[in-house]
Amino acid sequence: MYNLYNYSLKQLQDLLVNKYNQKPFRATQIFTWIYLKGVSDFSLMSDISKDFRDILKKDFCLVKPTIFKKEESSDGTIKFLTKLSDDNLVETVIMPYNYGNVLCVSSQVGCNMGCAFCASGLLKKKRNLETHEMVGELLLANELLKDKKITHIVVMGTGEPFDNYDNVMSFIRICNDPKAFEIGARHITVSTCGLVDKIRQYAKEGLQINLAISLHAATDEKRNKLMKINQRYPLKELMAATKEYVQVADRRVTFEYILLKDINDTEEDAKALAKLVKGILAYINLIPYNEVKENEFKRSDKSRVHQFLDWLTKLGVHAQIRKEFGSDISAACGQLRAKVKDNE
Ligand code: SF4
Repeated sequence: MYNLYNYSLKQLQDLLVNKYNQKPFRATQIFTWIYLKGVSDFSLMSDISKDFRDILKKDFCLVKPTIFKKEESSDGTIKFLTKLSDDNLVETVIMPYNYGNVLCVSSQVGCNMGCAFCASGLLKKKRNLETHEMVGELLLANELLKDKKITHIVVMGTGEPFDNYDNVMSFIRICNDPKAFEIGARHITVSTCGLVDKIRQYAKEGLQINLAISLHAATDEKRNKLMKINQRYPLKELMAATKEYVQVADRRVTFEYILLKDINDTEEDAKALAKLVKGILAYINLIPYNEVKENEFKRSDKSRVHQFLDWLTKLGVHAQIRKEFGSDISAACGQLRAKVKDNE
């Protein structure tokens, strides 16, 4: 059985043309029914011939995950555990910004990147999410929002998206497709911990989607301790690929920088960061850390977070402090899943 949520329009066209001898417009009709009209009963797809509707019933399905657990914050954030068909759970978060509803999507069950501060990465990667499972996260979120819709996507949940590159790119194409979710490319962001070869590949996709790079330290000495990926792709290589990305994709890049008390939040760190990003068309998101019981890292004091921003600004770096959501629920990435696991 082919799950229709697994295919971008082009992929579905190829499948229908090559395996079922159909014309490419058949895929557009199906997309219109399932995404724009929200119809999942093949017998209601009235502009498709009876013969092909019978084939759809026999060979295709529209299966999506379910919600296992949900937490809602007083600020409107909704965090839920998406239950996949093999009972694995991944976290999905809806954040109500003033410019729209942002969905943070998980791309893997667990993660092998081993960032020292991350609760999601405590569970080693079990498998990649299929495209239809990420589409499922989005469909579930839209159902929860009822009369509103998700307007922005960030692939920043559990997993390293570039370690599941092809499935993530198909998902993005479905998000962006005018016959599906029609989310503007500039409203979609993929975040990587720094897989250099994939950054170069992403630059050539020809889409206007955004790239965020989790930096979190501005020297190899510090980044090696916080992020294992730095031992494979040290800063020199990462920054070279980033510059290439900015040039080839003609896009600004965002660097994510989690502020950890007494680890990476001194004036010296701000200076090193400013030096590192000098000359790159970039924006820095400073992220106050959400403490978790599984490690010793502490959140920088509020005054230090603002001081750090001030240091960067005075050094000519474009930066902002990322708005926090859901502080009264399991705010840290991976925390809700860990909580459920603790109760198992
Ligand atoms: S921060 Fe992201 S890449 Fe690093 S371990 Fe966590 S989920 Fe994986």
